Amino acid sequence: MLKIEHLGIAVDELEKSIPLFEQLLNTPCYKTEEVASEGVNTAFFQVGENKIELLQATTPDSPIRKYIDKKGEGIHHIAFEVDNIEAEMKRLAALGFQLLHETPKKGADNKIICFLHPKSTNSVLIELCQEIR
Ligand code: ZN
Repeated sequence: MLKIEHLGIAVDELEKSIPLFEQLLNTPCYKTEEVASEGVNTAFFQVGENKIELLQATTPDSPIRKYIDKKGEGIHHIAFEVDNIEAEMKRLAALGFQLLHETPKKGADNKIICFLHPKSTNSVLIELCQEIR
């Protein structure tokens, strides 16, 4: 894995959280993007070489809605950038890590992604992401 690409933070309302994080980080949100397949709206901030991704649910059955109902707002996942997502998925599956999907999916911010089941990662939701070139 190359680096922590971003931290994903589950929020109730982007409208409130974007200005909050703009103040906190002293940098403007550079992009908002809906990922309809995941039922989320996202907002991105660049912090040095890493990013913060805010996630707001767009549907009642969105994973983010369920997460917030259970645990409240807060850190939702850690995303690692990888060179070759398919090779990394194979490597981790062979070690017994449980992948949430068998092939990479289209994520936000020009990435293909794959999540690992928190059951196999000490309850931390891990995302692998690779830049679409
Ligand atoms: Zn993410």
